[in-house]
Amino acid sequence: MTLLQELRDRRECRKVQPLLQQFLDGTLPAHLAAQVVAHVEACRRCGLEADTYQRLKSALGDLRSEPDPAAVGRLAVFVDGLAASGGGSAPP
Ligand SMILES: [Zn+2]
Repeated sequence: MTLLQELRDRRECRKVQPLLQQFLDGTLPAHLAAQVVAHVEACRRCGLEADTYQRLKSALGDLRSEPDPAAVGRLAVFVDGLAASGGGSAPP
């Protein structure tokens, strides 16, 4: 790879990297998304970065979509307890 090509590549990387997150969120306009895809496929560094973002995003997505059943159970017990103990001092 020539120095000129490498410099052009780095410029492309700087252009693409701020777009990666939007791209993975699906909020990037199609014409920009196409540029990101083309670059990520050609550039190993940005490909790795996209992969990292993707893993992070899916990990966060799992946390958000599947609440901890134990936590939900504790909350249910707490709410039941409130309902049961509120008998004597119920608001009018
Ligand atoms: Zn790149």
